[in-house]
Amino acid sequence: MKWLDFLKQGAQARRQAAFPYFVPVPERKMDAVERELVEQLLRDASVDYRRQLESLRVVGRCGCGECPTVFFQVHRQGDAESDLVTAQGRDESGGLVAAVLLEKNGALSQLEFYSIDGHSPWSAPKAETFEPW
Ligand SMILES: [Zn+2]
Repeated sequence: MKWLDFLKQGAQARRQAAFPYFVPVPERKMDAVERELVEQLLRDASVDYRRQLESLRVVGRCGCGECPTVFFQVHRQGDAESDLVTAQGRDESGGLVAAVLLEKNGALSQLEFYSIDGHSPWSAPKAETFEPW
């Protein structure tokens, strides 16, 4: 197995163990960074998802209080949420961070981030460094 695949598997396992973590916030529009990342992730997605972009509102954040993960829908434990698109990129420090756009019943529900290589502190990856997962 390639080293990067090994890192990805570990990061995936940590990510699943971290659920649930929804914390509500006052509804707001996406900021410029979030919007650019969502646009990039949706580039090859179906029009059913791309047309949701303009109406997306942030309604929650991750309860860890440190990562940039945001929610577009209220998340309840047991919700059938699934990964729509995943990309990896580099943050300010040059470390590898995964960005995942999730959907629930056909509606975009979450923009999740996690550190792939375990570096800390970490931040959202820059859209121009995105590569397919
Ligand atoms: Zn978090």
